[in-house]
Amino acid sequence: MAELASPAGPLPHIPDDLTLAQFTLDAQHPARPVRKDGIPWIIEDQSGKKIGLEELRARTYGLANGLSLRYNIKEDDVVLIYSPNHVDYLVAVWAAHRLGATMSGANPLFTVDELVYQMTATKASVIITHPDSFDVALSASRTANIPSDRIIIFDTDTPSKTAAVNQCTVQALIEMGLANPPNFVERRLNPGEGKTKVAFLNFSSGTTGRPKAVAIPHYAPIANTIQLAAHHKLNQDYCKWEDQRFRPGDVCSAVLPLYHIYGLVFNTHFSFFCGMPVVLATTKFNFLEFLKSIARHRITHLMLVPPQIVLLCKHPAVKDYDFSHVRYLTIGAAPLSRELMERLVEIFPNAHIGQSYGTTESSTVITTFPLSKKRDLSGSAGQLLPGVVARVVRPDGSLADFDEPGELVAKTPSLALRYDGNPEATAETFVDGWLRTGDEVKMNRDGEIFVLDRLKEMIKVRGYQVAPAELEGCILDHPDVADTCVVSVPDEYSGELPLAFVVLHPQPAKRTESSARAAEEIKQSIMKHVADNKVAYKKLAGGVEFIESVPKNPSGKLLRRVLRDKARAMKATP
Ligand code: AMP
Repeated sequence: MAELASPAGPLPHIPDDLTLAQFTLDAQHPARPVRKDGIPWIIEDQSGKKIGLEELRARTYGLANGLSLRYNIKEDDVVLIYSPNHVDYLVAVWAAHRLGATMSGANPLFTVDELVYQMTATKASVIITHPDSFDVALSASRTANIPSDRIIIFDTDTPSKTAAVNQCTVQALIEMGLANPPNFVERRLNPGEGKTKVAFLNFSSGTTGRPKAVAIPHYAPIANTIQLAAHHKLNQDYCKWEDQRFRPGDVCSAVLPLYHIYGLVFNTHFSFFCGMPVVLATTKFNFLEFLKSIARHRITHLMLVPPQIVLLCKHPAVKDYDFSHVRYLTIGAAPLSRELMERLVEIFPNAHIGQSYGTTESSTVITTFPLSKKRDLSGSAGQLLPGVVARVVRPDGSLADFDEPGELVAKTPSLALRYDGNPEATAETFVDGWLRTGDEVKMNRDGEIFVLDRLKEMIKVRGYQVAPAELEGCILDHPDVADTCVVSVPDEYSGELPLAFVVLHPQPAKRTESSARAAEEIKQSIMKHVADNKVAYKKLAGGVEFIESVPKNPSGKLLRRVLRDKARAMKATP
């Protein structure tokens, strides 16, 4: 029967009385390797600017005090960050934590409507944004009834071209906070409180429906960091062993967005724990710049998503580089083919290479490639982390055998608490301390997981979540559309793309003569409608197909699988 606790031994102590800020910036831990003197924590990719622990702590304190003085930010207020990565992004996260507040990160490319949704769902108290995102933040905050003076701007070297010049900046708040006596008492947690005190509201659509705010307590990212440390057998003598995966002083690239849990926990907080500086890319991902950055900073560690691997494997510029200094590469967030994994070995001849798997709801990692395998090219998504118990469950609810497909259901100390304000969705996904992942997997006796398919509705485009229910709501606003169902079709670069099956109103205005041209115009108009209202990766790049009716079961539930299989068959035979 496929129920397995991770084969690793017991977990080291996981503090349940620390905020993530205290765990990261203030605390010691027996599994934490001793950091090398003078090694920075954050290196800004483009400028090379280096920031060490003392500076991060001072900026965090200054910003917390400034947020308290000027905005009265306090217990359980929500600080929403709507920005690309920035050197002060994590400072803002930790400042919120020192005040007892919660941080919610939004995709910096979101449209006004998408941002309003997140502002409203989280009841955000202040918005921190980038000058380039200010106009959208301002429009959204008007709709969400957030006064414009509660929009704070990250400082940039280039002068702002927008009205953002008149806003309060993070730097100004830090200076105010440092110049004035303390206006707040740092939030400290009682023993056990870390398991319930919410640190983050990250968004995920989970198994069904629209994106929901996942309430992640402080304990969860701390636990995940320690689980990763235990998997890799980190301890204070660790750096003495030459061929370890993570050594203090190794250099980790951070091109993943910090609003997503993969960037927030594994990529940055775990790297800090290991004593590794993080090279933070603060501009939109540019592949050629990324290659230069790996070489310029002699990056040793890479945490990436499949589309970046496709570029690494296919882009001609890669052959101009010698990446023998790269020692570690993991890929997560979406499936990756074995062929691409094999090609990676040629590009990174000295690297440990393998996959990791996780979800926002398990903040973050559930499996990563075994320590015993320098390269895991088997297609496995990795082995259960210490502290994880996993079940593979058949559709009838019984336990599958080892190597038999079924839904992965997992228990982990890094589990989120709930979908905030959504007890129905919470009850479906978080069941008696177990997480229903909505992923179809096989598990072997060594606790290695192979992801076979996604049972849940969620579509992943370039590693980003796209919730079909959200797109369906948008498409139904189009005047010609009577009903719709959005499914995914496979794509080599993006992994998947959304495709909409659409039922038109019986006599749509523009279909007076039912010519192919008129139909094509309506398709284009539906695609434009989505592109105008949603962030770029949600556009209907898989296309629009007309159908007579959306198949439903007798109780009216959409038979999404039927249409998904139809879409795949159509794409396979053009
Ligand atoms: P998110 O909450 O955005 O991190 O998305 C979680 C989902 O991404 C999982 O439920 C999987 O469907 C998918 N995913 C994450 N890692 C992998 C992986 N290594 N292989 C296949 N799918 C993955």
